[in-house]
Amino acid sequence: MALLSRRFLARRPRPQVVVLGASFAGLNASRALDAKKFRVTVIDAAPAAQWLPNVHELLSQIKKPAQLLHDRRSIVSAHGHDFICASASRIDREQQRLYLDDGRWLDYDALILATGSTANDFGIPGVATHAVYPRSVEAAARAAHLLSRLAALPSGRDVVLVGGGIEGLEMLGEILRRHGQDQRFTIHLVEVAPRLLPQFPGLHERLLESMQGQVQLHFGRRVSAVHADSVELDNGERLASRLTLWSGGRRGSAFTGNSGLSQPGADVAVDDTLQSQLDARIFVAGDAALLAQALKKQVPYAQAMGTHAALNVELWLQHKPLQTFRPLHLPSVLTFGDRDGIMLYGNQALASPALLALKEATYQYGFHQWSPPRSGRDVVRLARDLRHGINALDVWRLLAKSADTRIFQAS
Ligand SMILES: Cc1cc2nc3c(=O)[nH]c(=O)nc-3n(C[C@H](O)[C@H](O)[C@H](O)COP(=O)(O)OP(=O)(O)OC[C@H]3O[C@@H](n4cnc5c(N)ncnc54)[C@H](O)[C@@H]3O)c2cc1C
Repeated sequence: MALLSRRFLARRPRPQVVVLGASFAGLNASRALDAKKFRVTVIDAAPAAQWLPNVHELLSQIKKPAQLLHDRRSIVSAHGHDFICASASRIDREQQRLYLDDGRWLDYDALILATGSTANDFGIPGVATHAVYPRSVEAAARAAHLLSRLAALPSGRDVVLVGGGIEGLEMLGEILRRHGQDQRFTIHLVEVAPRLLPQFPGLHERLLESMQGQVQLHFGRRVSAVHADSVELDNGERLASRLTLWSGGRRGSAFTGNSGLSQPGADVAVDDTLQSQLDARIFVAGDAALLAQALKKQVPYAQAMGTHAALNVELWLQHKPLQTFRPLHLPSVLTFGDRDGIMLYGNQALASPALLALKEATYQYGFHQWSPPRSGRDVVRLARDLRHGINALDVWRLLAKSADTRIFQAS
């Protein structure tokens, strides 16, 4: 059944814009589209938007899932648009039609693709079956639950975390926050690089010091297979594992590969206006977009691209010249549990426990801005989150440790 027939579209004065993906990029795009000028439909496979930068905090249970979720329909309807909770299966570009898994379809005048990233297991046997990818609120909450179950076991509390990049380090920090002092846990970190954040000499040593000898480290090693009770490394070593957490990297969403706009697993090539190189009616924003000058896959870029894609959709529909996307480069902050914080900006990294407060402030501001309080209940929720965040920070301890600040230069 067609949701909107083409004949109906042709008679309407307002063009139909479809936004596929309602996360950082898609929600910013929908916010920037004026409901008086366009009929906008936003689609996402899941009903709740997830604040991914703090998902790792679910592992220590310092945050609860509800603190990272907002209802997509209410965010989208606040901008005067429709929301459909469904998975899109393919695009018929000739017909300008987007098909949904449930058999429905939507016709569009312009389409904004904001389908993001998915976890990459590099085809390594057993990863998909036996490892948990804590890349979403549900998966991280599941990992936290499994960690709590391990904590109840008399022995055999072996955890293997694969991937020591930014996301992996944030997860490790939270595991240490909750279970680091428990000597019955054996925590392994497997990382293919020879050092952590190798571009910044000295930072590796600082992170190792923060680990306080509570982690068994396997640098320069690849995982060759994951089994139900162990992880096999490329040197033949087998690590016992009751819980394997996978943070091995990202790939483009399955949808963009299926839609013929990119190779499977790759992002969609766009020009500097965020317009697809294959189809002028399609604009791409966020992690899914591949610009000539590749950008880091991070929230501020995804949000800025979402807003810019909406602007250019409007210009394109009005037959006006498109504007070049010029990203503002911002620092990124990663936390290592309650032990340290690191800000990465260009050739410099600043390490200081005081940065834990900055990460929390970014969450408080960004998450609540997604859906600003509209009722007394919302205000109570915001106040509760703020109080919870301040308590979890342990401000006195942070102030006491704030002298422990250092700058690292990229080599
Ligand atoms: C664990 C983790 C921690 C991170 N930490 C940070 C951080 O600290 N700071 C930072 O800046 N960045 C961080 N990032 C990166 C950041 O989250 C991404 O850059 C950002 O989410 C990209 O936003 P996006 O809107 O492009 O895509 P996504 O957030 O990936 O959203 C894509 C959306 O598209 C939907 N979708 C995909 N395919 C379909 C389909 N076929 N049908 C319907 N819906 C579909 C998905 O359901 C999803 O909601 C982190 C990422 C992860 C996974």
